[in-house]
Amino acid sequence: MCGIFGVYGSKDAALLTHLGLYALQHRGEESAGIIAYDSKKIRQCQGMGLVNDLFDQKSLKSLRGNVALGHVRYSTTGSSSIENIQPFLAKHKGGHIAIAHNGNLTNALKLRREMEKEGSIFQTTMDSEIIVHLLARSSGRDCKKTTLLATLQRLEGAYSLVMMVDGMLIGARDPYGFRPLCIGRLGQAYVLASETCALDLIHAKYIRDIEPGEIVFIDKDGLRRANLPKKDKRAFCIFEHIYFARPDSSVFEKNVYMIRKQLGRQLAKEAPADCDIVMPIPDSGNSAALGFAEESKIPFEVGMIRNHYVGRTFIQPSQHIRDFKVKVKLNPIREVLKGKRVLIVEDSIVRGTTSRSRVKTLREAGAKEIHMRVSCPPIISPCYYGIDFPTTKELIAPKKTIRQIRDFIGLNSLKYLSLDGMLKAIGSPKREFCTACFSGVYPTKPPKRLSKDILEKEN
Ligand code: AMP
Repeated sequence: MCGIFGVYGSKDAALLTHLGLYALQHRGEESAGIIAYDSKKIRQCQGMGLVNDLFDQKSLKSLRGNVALGHVRYSTTGSSSIENIQPFLAKHKGGHIAIAHNGNLTNALKLRREMEKEGSIFQTTMDSEIIVHLLARSSGRDCKKTTLLATLQRLEGAYSLVMMVDGMLIGARDPYGFRPLCIGRLGQAYVLASETCALDLIHAKYIRDIEPGEIVFIDKDGLRRANLPKKDKRAFCIFEHIYFARPDSSVFEKNVYMIRKQLGRQLAKEAPADCDIVMPIPDSGNSAALGFAEESKIPFEVGMIRNHYVGRTFIQPSQHIRDFKVKVKLNPIREVLKGKRVLIVEDSIVRGTTSRSRVKTLREAGAKEIHMRVSCPPIISPCYYGIDFPTTKELIAPKKTIRQIRDFIGLNSLKYLSLDGMLKAIGSPKREFCTACFSGVYPTKPPKRLSKDILEKEN
């Protein structure tokens, strides 16, 4: 997953992009970058780590110009390394192409092999670089509609893109619309963002989502649009609503918090439990747990507190502390849990390992019974469209029955939301969403293997 953001037409383009990335930080914590253009020079600033640690007043001031784009990265293809930081910039024939990509191309390896045969030299292992090569070959210095349309038509899989080609800002979404991307306005400026929470932070007004298969070109003449050939269905990623997007965002034109609450309500109807309290595992289960509590009339409690200052890595003490990784992040409130029959609402179970250690912590804090309800069905298949799920081998649901998962996590009972119940709660017909991770039915031909695995072995 990744977060992408772009601004056209503001003298504060880089500063606004910095704020946009700050709001989108949850979409990628590995690396971040900003590229700005002032009609003469293109400048970039990037690094490994969090947005707040990478940019300061000085670096942002140096990113002059009224066009900027930015990216926060969570690698799904290409390793987590410096050369794979985005936006990816290529200078060619006196012009430039910069790209920020969210998604995963399923024909990346095939395209890359073809291009390598013809002499292309790749600098990264990212699938996004393929788009730049395709564009650079055919476009020369211009970024005419037809060139971009032809390039994007060669791509398969998921892509939401923000690009800058010779000073023009371009936004595009694949014809299935796997990943979100929206347009906002801030005065005369145009803003493109993965999620609406990034527009809110800079006081930009949400205008609309970029439609599946739509490309928008933004320059001094305003916004023009073009469309890729239509597909007969859409495949919005349902996991954006379940786990990935921020609850204060609207993605696919629906508020995430309201959807998650509805998932919790549906879960309470399908899988009720006789318990004393309902609690989330903070923070991803919060909204669904509230919905469950409201529907079931079981009191909502906060049985665990999250330390918000934990980064991705922390220095382990030399002295051995049991379950340190879990403890440093979440601490149970014994007074809430002691002697209680606790119902935990989880947004999803992936490997089952974090849930297992959290349940252990709750038991040690005195919970009498622990039941879990999950606000989506079992995850049985890998994602080829940009969610970083482990391989089928590492996922728990394909290997174990629900009873076995219950026992592995150490629960008194475990129930999942049904696929139909999930779609009902989201209020959309089946054909709108990609539910491949729950059903194994993919909206496009899945690749045999992820290009990430193959390329990294070679490098
Ligand atoms: P586990 O118990 O190890 O399966 O972890 C489940 C938790 O991981 C869920 O409650 C989510 O909060 C979180 N999660 C879900 N999907 C992902 C993902 N793709 N990458 C990292 N964490 C995830």
